[in-house]
Amino acid sequence: MKRSGTLKRLPAQTEFSARLRRWHRRHGRHDLPWQWKPTPYRVWVSEIMLQQTQVASVIPYFNRFMRRFRSVRALASADLDEVLGLWSGLGYYARARHLHEAAKLMIERHGGAVPGRIDQLAQLPGIGRSTAGAILSLSLGLPCPVLDGNAKRVLCRYHGVRGWPAEKKVEQKLWRLAESHLPRRAAAVHTQALMDLGATLCTRSSPRCDVCPLHEECVARREGLQDSLPAPRPKRKVPVRRTALAVIENGHGRILLQRRPPAGIWGGLWSLPECPPDADVIDWVRERFGWPVIVVGRVPALRHSFTHFHLDIEPVRLQLRRDEREVRDTADQAWLTPAAGMRRGLAAPIRKLLGEIYGVDDGGGT
Ligand code: SF4
Repeated sequence: MKRSGTLKRLPAQTEFSARLRRWHRRHGRHDLPWQWKPTPYRVWVSEIMLQQTQVASVIPYFNRFMRRFRSVRALASADLDEVLGLWSGLGYYARARHLHEAAKLMIERHGGAVPGRIDQLAQLPGIGRSTAGAILSLSLGLPCPVLDGNAKRVLCRYHGVRGWPAEKKVEQKLWRLAESHLPRRAAAVHTQALMDLGATLCTRSSPRCDVCPLHEECVARREGLQDSLPAPRPKRKVPVRRTALAVIENGHGRILLQRRPPAGIWGGLWSLPECPPDADVIDWVRERFGWPVIVVGRVPALRHSFTHFHLDIEPVRLQLRRDEREVRDTADQAWLTPAAGMRRGLAAPIRKLLGEIYGVDDGGGT
């Protein structure tokens, strides 16, 4: 879809925005780490981290990330492994890969700067129209609308918009409404206030309409539709997949970890060897690696849920037979102590699994 630049014709400041901003002055969030110095780079990283993730979980990751990667250039020149390591535990790892890729493109195309135009931003990996709007309005004050989950919920309820917000027609309507409320000036405060209202008052399960600055004109409040708006995603059955993971120990306190291919689930992250769920794991290891192993224990299965399916993981603990204990590391596989493994960019369920089996903790994700 072709993106326009910043909006050319903006409506006069609406009552909606004025109320929202008045409320924000007293009740909004003003001390988030990315607000202290809202450069386009810091706001970009924070917006990517905040996708699908709560503010409280993001803060320590954001601070660590900023200490290590102070600029687009620092991020672009880092190894993907290190970026994933700092992301480990935050989930949705495609976000970290896209961030790294986009930083490299910013070096190539924009001299190492975060571009200041919606159309340029939206061509970069991981940046959609709403994220681009948030970056430009929050860091530069440009009048660009946002339509993240919080904004969608507030607008659906305030205007009584029916239909699932991710449906194309409904989404287009919400974009028009988001644009219609955008003030000519004070876009940064407006955007932050809209997001804050959605996150703190107009929450999914218990909106606090009694203290909401929009309650007078809000359709959902007037008609008692808060519980049914926004409309939920039409129901569908989420498929379940199974996999087995081989926790291979070398008899000297080390386990085998492998880096996963860049595409697919947990792309580029370190994980345990994955074996077809119905295969005989001893035969599979012999075929795959040429090593004889013995089973030393079963571990309770765990379920990890992705957006489109559940993954049931069946781990098996194995040990190399004595004569095979000196096998070497390669570029994409390493024998590590569980504690050293925790310092790699591990997929979240692998981190959990190693913590449960070996009682190790990474102290917060790096
Ligand atoms: S009045 Fe209630 S439902 Fe309407 S925007 Fe405010 S908190 Fe949300």
